[in-house]
Amino acid sequence: MMPLVDTHLHLDAAAFAGQREQCWADARAQGVRQALVPAVSAANFAAVLAMREQFGVAVALGLHPLFLAQHQDAHLALLAQHLAEQRPLAVGECGLDFFVPGLDPVRQEALLLAQLRLAREFDLPVILHVRRAQDRVLKCLRQVRVRGGIAHAFNGSVQQAQAFIDLGFCLGFGGAMTYPGSQRIRRLAASLPLDALVLETDGPDMAPAWAPGVPNMPVNLRRIAQTLADLRQLPLAGLAEATTANACRVLPGLLLQP
Ligand code: ZN
Repeated sequence: MMPLVDTHLHLDAAAFAGQREQCWADARAQGVRQALVPAVSAANFAAVLAMREQFGVAVALGLHPLFLAQHQDAHLALLAQHLAEQRPLAVGECGLDFFVPGLDPVRQEALLLAQLRLAREFDLPVILHVRRAQDRVLKCLRQVRVRGGIAHAFNGSVQQAQAFIDLGFCLGFGGAMTYPGSQRIRRLAASLPLDALVLETDGPDMAPAWAPGVPNMPVNLRRIAQTLADLRQLPLAGLAEATTANACRVLPGLLLQP
């Protein structure tokens, strides 16, 4: 079976409680050979690292803009210590969210820049959350150069996509692309260079069109891959091979499971 990589899966989320083993086994049975599990705050660093221990998944550690109220300056020092001692594969998820009201944009940007500096210091890729803030994140990336990473759930323009690509980033596509009404995202998925695309579920969030209103399971990655293959008029095997190679390139050290 062709190998697939879920580059964004919150496997530690409460929505998966009691069904994590089954959920990961189901995904494995459909060809999902690895996943990247990103942290969202210092409070879940331990839970994310436990996923690596239990399931052999890859992890990223970072401070997510939606959890701004929880983050403290001391958490940046804690993140630096974890990057040194726990050796995650990436920094994240971090970024800017100018869609959800009430998140101080100045503080968000300071937090992102601090994490970009850590990523540069440890030479790690970055997992980015970017909502209504594409140009602002690009400005931060030009200010603090990192080795690249993934702009997850990409929802920008072709020009913004190219700017991320030029900075060493791949673009994550998942559930949003499965809705026939998401014409702009589907056009992007169909037309951007294949070597810039990676697949993700963002489980338990971003439910695909065929399973709305329930936790998004990593097993859905297979059908998400089929959706992208159809949009690009490629055989599934070739699409899987290419996106998995992209994930391995942009996340150095990513090892596929047997
Ligand atoms: Zn996420």
